[in-house]
Amino acid sequence: VTPLLSGTGLRKTFGQTQALDGAAMELYSGEVVAVMGPSGSGKSTLLHCLAGIVQPEAGEVRYAGRMLSAMPDRERSALRRTDFGFVFQFGQLVPELTCLENVALPLRLDGVRRRPAEKLAREWLDRLEVGDTADKRPGEVSGGQGQRAAIARALVTEPRVLFADEPTGALDSLNGERVMRLFVGAAKESGAAVLLVTHEPRVAAYSDREIVVRDGKSRQVGFAPVLRR
Ligand code: ADP
Ligand code: ADP
Repeated sequence: VTPLLSGTGLRKTFGQTQALDGAAMELYSGEVVAVMGPSGSGKSTLLHCLAGIVQPEAGEVRYAGRMLSAMPDRERSALRRTDFGFVFQFGQLVPELTCLENVALPLRLDGVRRRPAEKLAREWLDRLEVGDTADKRPGEVSGGQGQRAAIARALVTEPRVLFADEPTGALDSLNGERVMRLFVGAAKESGAAVLLVTHEPRVAAYSDREIVVRDGKSRQVGFAPVLRR
């Protein structure tokens, strides 16, 4: 079994700050991995490097056998759109669009026509129990509702890799659990690989294993599936 996504020797500095200092990790299809660690330890930067959003100064990221950093920018963004889903902590919905249009957007960008795209988008909003936000703009819904709409938007394309940075931060514990069950479902039923940053042990409890990041270095907790067999 080869990992779907892997990073090795990742280094990234912002000015004087060494955000990543040789971090490495692997992610397999069908697993949920939680990235934990103190604030400022480099968790988000690790996620961004693996997702091809931030270019590390050293190290490499491989996705499905291909080196992400060696890909032309245009190809890398196309890959992000077709294969990756993202949930970030803040301000990710387009304020001018309704929540339904926001969720349908990635499908529209993939060339899906409006009706089928909006039909699927509505299903995902319902699944996250925020169907009543469909015709509202992000500024007219609560933080938790917006977060759930953003999660619907990340899942609507059935990504092969889902990147989530504190996805349950704005949610109460019941909705946090619902979201985690959807993530686990995406992994176990559709074979997605889910990588999430969280500081909540209750959220990490849904994962198959944990990666702990400290001072830009990563450490595995628990075994990768290839070693578990
Ligand atoms: P975590 O997600 O664990 O809180 P981050 O990866 O966000 O950590 O940040 C690691 C370090 O890099 C922190 O010291 C943070 O301040 C710094 N950092 C992250 N992104 C930037 C940026 N865009 N510009 C400057 N410093 C940054
Ligand atoms: P959540 O757990 O989804 O964040 P809240 O407890 O914040 O929900 O909000 C409860 C209800 O109040 C929501 O169903 C929503 O309709 C309404 N609400 C909360 N914040 C806002 C807001 N900023 N604008 C409009 N309605 C809001």
